[in-house]
Amino acid sequence: MKYYFIKYPESLPAGWGGETRGPFIKILSKYKNDIGLLEHEKIHVRQWYAMLALELLVCILVALFVWPTFWIVCGGAPMLHPLLYKLIRPYRQWCEVQAYREQIRVGGYSSSDFAVAALVEKYNLDLETNEAAALLVG
Ligand SMILES: [Zn+2]
Repeated sequence: MKYYFIKYPESLPAGWGGETRGPFIKILSKYKNDIGLLEHEKIHVRQWYAMLALELLVCILVALFVWPTFWIVCGGAPMLHPLLYKLIRPYRQWCEVQAYREQIRVGGYSSSDFAVAALVEKYNLDLETNEAAALLVG
């Protein structure tokens, strides 16, 4: 079952080859054949589904057993992953490390330097180069 939707636009915000919002992936058309980048973005889709499922489960349990009107909070479930990603640096780091590990594993690249550089420069993770490199092999 295909669990994501993909588009190949001609442009994205400067410096980005792909982006994911919920189940929607965009990959620059020039990277259409980059299987590693696709797998990177698919990891983010799976992270979004996991947080969606987790929040729905917690909402349902709380609404059933603790506080019936809590079901209203369930409507925010699609926003849990984006909020955690934006606001919680360790969560964002974990998400990107998982995605880059998979990208490197399947991408067939000659080097993983691009991933180390991205982790250091692009995600406000406050990582040094050696720390980023260690995370990718861990
Ligand atoms: Zn990513």
